[in-house]
Amino acid sequence: MQHLKTKQYGPVKAFELGYHWPGLPTFTVHIYFIDGLLIDTGQYNCRHTVLSLFKQLPLQQIALTHWHEDHIGNVSTLYNHFHPTIFADPLTAEKVRQGFDIMLYEKYFFGKIRPQDIPIKTLPEEIKTSKYSFVPIYTPGHSDDHHVYLEPNEGWLFSGDLFVSQRIKVFRKGENIWQQIDSLKRVLALYFDKVFCAHNPQIEFGRKSLERKLDYFESFTEQVCFWYNQGYKTAEIIQKMALKDKKMINLMTGYDVSVHWMVGSVIKHLPVSL
Ligand SMILES: [Zn+2]
Repeated sequence: MQHLKTKQYGPVKAFELGYHWPGLPTFTVHIYFIDGLLIDTGQYNCRHTVLSLFKQLPLQQIALTHWHEDHIGNVSTLYNHFHPTIFADPLTAEKVRQGFDIMLYEKYFFGKIRPQDIPIKTLPEEIKTSKYSFVPIYTPGHSDDHHVYLEPNEGWLFSGDLFVSQRIKVFRKGENIWQQIDSLKRVLALYFDKVFCAHNPQIEFGRKSLERKLDYFESFTEQVCFWYNQGYKTAEIIQKMALKDKKMINLMTGYDVSVHWMVGSVIKHLPVSL
C-alpha cells in the first residue's frame, strides 16, 4: 500500500511517502518541492504516487542529498517522464547509474534498485530557481556522498538524513559518527532556522534540534571513549552505557541497523588525537 500526506510550509511543499503491507510498520520519507526544484525523489515502491504528483506540478530540477534507496528511488522515473535537470555528487551519480544490491528489508520498504542510465550534473556552487538559490554543502558521515542544501536568504536547510532524530539510537552499517559531528558543526556555523529533514521535519525549532543532536553525539562519543580507554569492547560498552537494541529493527534489517554500529563507529573511526 502506498501512502501520501501533503504538507505546506510557506512556499515549500512536502510530500510524505510511505509503503507498507497492512499489519506491518510503515517507514516514511519526505520529498520537498519548491519553485520547480525537487529535493530527493522518495522510494521506488511509491513511484506511482510520485509520478501522479508531478503530472500537476512544474518539475524543472532535482537535487539529490545522497545515494540511499529511499532518496534516489524515483529519479529515473521522473527523468523519463519530465526531463528535469538533475544535480548530485559524483558518488551519488555513480550509484544511481550502476545500481546496487540492497537488503531484503530495503526491498520491502523501498523497492528494488536497478541501474538507471540518466544524465546527472555535478553540483554547482548554487542551484538557482526563479526565486531562490540553494547552496550544496558537503556533509559526510551518514554516507560518503551526503549533501544538504541551504537557502541562506530564507534560512531553510534541506538536510537529507543529517538530522533524522535528536537522540538517534541506532546506526546503519558504515556510518561514521565523527564525520557526522564535523558535518553538524560546519552546518551550525551557517544561518538557518527551518530544517527540512527527509524523515522528521523540524520547522519550528530547526536550529535547536541540530544543536541538540550535536550535543548528544558529543556526549555519546565521550562516554564510549571513556569505556574504550578502560579496555572494554563494543558489546561490553553497550552494557555499561545501558544501551538497547530494538529487536524488531534488528530482525527486520538483518542487523544492518543496530546500536552495535553506532558504538562501533566511535571506536573504528577514533581520531588519532584522542
Ligand atoms: Zn540515508
